[in-house]
Amino acid sequence: MKKLPIKSLPPSKALGAEISQDPFDLLAPVLKSFSFHHPKDEVGPIEEAWKVAKEKHEGQFRASGEPYISHPLGVAQILADLGSDRQVVMAGLLHDTVEDTDYSLEECRRQFGETASLVEGVTKLSLISKELSNAETIRKLILAMQQDVRVGVVKLADRLYNARTWRFMPPKKAAKKAGETLDIYVPLADRLGMGIVKSELEELSFKYLDPKIYKKVVEMVGARAGVRDEYLEKMMGEVKASLKSYGIKAKITGRLKSYFSIYRKIVLLKKNFDRIYDFVGIRVVVDSPQNCYRALGIIHEKWLPVPGRFKDYIAMPKSNLYQALHTTILGDGGQEIEIQIRTEEMHKEDEYGIAAHWKYKEKEDFGSPEWVGRMANWVKDLQDPSEILPALKSDLTSEEISIFTPKGETIFLPEGACPLDFAYAVHTEIGNRAVGAKINGIPSSLSSKLKSGDCVEILTSQSGSSGPSYEWLSFVITPKAKNKIKRFLSQEKNLEAAQKGKKALMAYMLDRGIPFSLPSLVHASSALGFSTLQQLYYAVGNGKISCFAVSRAVFRSKASGEGSESEKYSVTVKGVEKGERIELARCCKPVPGDQIAGFITNFRGVRIHSTRCPDFVRLSEENPGKIVDAQWKGEKGEFEAEIEVLALDRQALLVDLSLAISNACVDLSSSRQKVAANLVSAYFSFKFRDFPQLELVIKSLEQVEGVIGVKRVGG
Ligand code: MN
Repeated sequence: MKKLPIKSLPPSKALGAEISQDPFDLLAPVLKSFSFHHPKDEVGPIEEAWKVAKEKHEGQFRASGEPYISHPLGVAQILADLGSDRQVVMAGLLHDTVEDTDYSLEECRRQFGETASLVEGVTKLSLISKELSNAETIRKLILAMQQDVRVGVVKLADRLYNARTWRFMPPKKAAKKAGETLDIYVPLADRLGMGIVKSELEELSFKYLDPKIYKKVVEMVGARAGVRDEYLEKMMGEVKASLKSYGIKAKITGRLKSYFSIYRKIVLLKKNFDRIYDFVGIRVVVDSPQNCYRALGIIHEKWLPVPGRFKDYIAMPKSNLYQALHTTILGDGGQEIEIQIRTEEMHKEDEYGIAAHWKYKEKEDFGSPEWVGRMANWVKDLQDPSEILPALKSDLTSEEISIFTPKGETIFLPEGACPLDFAYAVHTEIGNRAVGAKINGIPSSLSSKLKSGDCVEILTSQSGSSGPSYEWLSFVITPKAKNKIKRFLSQEKNLEAAQKGKKALMAYMLDRGIPFSLPSLVHASSALGFSTLQQLYYAVGNGKISCFAVSRAVFRSKASGEGSESEKYSVTVKGVEKGERIELARCCKPVPGDQIAGFITNFRGVRIHSTRCPDFVRLSEENPGKIVDAQWKGEKGEFEAEIEVLALDRQALLVDLSLAISNACVDLSSSRQKVAANLVSAYFSFKFRDFPQLELVIKSLEQVEGVIGVKRVGG
């Protein structure tokens, strides 16, 4: 992201603070603030949104006794003060209309267009279980942020306004909200770089989550304020003087650490409160990055730096773009004191983050930062909603480390991640096939802990004989890796059960001489309420349905009719009239050896599909009555197939793949490739005579070095 100069913005805690003096024009301060940031933009639509919101919330009241409209108005004021664009300010005014009034989303979209999507993103889901709907609402928020990151900013403004009014809530309920805010919204504000919103939310949450400790901290800090201020004053003077003697102009401010960060130090880091100097810091603001480093040198020359505390976020910015130099020195009297050095731009970036960029955007591009996409991807996949909040919390709150791929790309992972987390972050297939890793060139185990700056290479197995195990779950820490491993394991278990069920069922029916065919099984399974045959097998395997019940259903659904044959393709179809037109389906291009079935189309006779074809599976779910039995008569002919090869990219890969195909004596008709990260998906279409020849092609492709998997498209 390009850094731009940032005009004067309101100071912290003043966000949304201005209240109209005129009771008949409550919107005035919002418009004033909006026009200050966007002098050329029309305010008409904002007034429209205000009218609708006021009318819809008429007669509703907040817990504080105020008219409800004070809330959307306050949220819009916070957003306007952040410098948000018009749609965001409008969304602030309208954000509760769809949830709490008879105003529908469709109406909102008709009246306000795009703004409706922002409103939709922050609207709560109302499910029966409160816990569930909370988790699902946050899942929805994250997914909406992937489309438009501004949704997150509207939600944060909403939460900030509400946090300021927690005193009107029963203490228990407020504490619960505060906990959720610390777990999810504070880290979200941090990721979006909105330091100003983050610290106020943090402070309010602490106050309501643990009022007793909060009061204690406030008292203790107050009691020592005199000594602390004196010391801080003195140190600031000395820093200023030494920078000045080298000709560096700097703005120096004392930084009282927030009550929350003091609390964190005492409770989580178990520090002694009497070392109060830990709780002050000095911030040095200079005019250029070069002078940041010069200032650092001068300070380190005069005072001893505490080892291990220097961090260079200018050369290596955090993923939220935060930049500054951090160091801790032993000040006068041997007291540790933290110093942050940054430029004015870096300072504004820290306070306003993503919001700081809006005014200067030339194109409308509200695509989300990379981490939102990553988060959205695993959030989408999570099947058990009760896992959403804990997983989100751990993803959001962990410190990030940056890991490099062998090609030099950066991948951000939470602290404590291992090479296996890295593998899954790169690609699921690489994770599933991982057998070992090299960290900075040195062979290491998949479970070793990574450090920021490590370069990691993952060794994968070709055979697929290894693979995810329950043990892996004990050392990966990222939700994505956990998800994918669990999914792999449960699929494997389901597959096993389904295979067991299939065998048992076949044996049962063969034993008793019950005639059956695939279509009759498909019929039976849909008659029994299963959506796929696989699910029926699975149920049999797990003992949820007896073989007797299935065979009875099969017996009843047996297709009847004389049957038809195709001249061209050597296929016989049962259960249709003689002479019925028969064609091979183009989606899966079945070949002799495939298990097939017919689907009676409306006007074009019978289409023959492979029973594994996804289209066929869908059709048989939708219209089980149109499925008929089909068999191959002979095995020769001319057939076409498309094959997908998934392989790790390397030199001359495509040449080797083409060679493997021509070795099997087939005619290649077309090929295409896709490359993503380190993986190539290559597709080859060709004509062949019979099934053994097709198998030969697949076998020889599988032998090519680097190939992960070979499969028939649609087959
Ligand atoms: Mn609200």
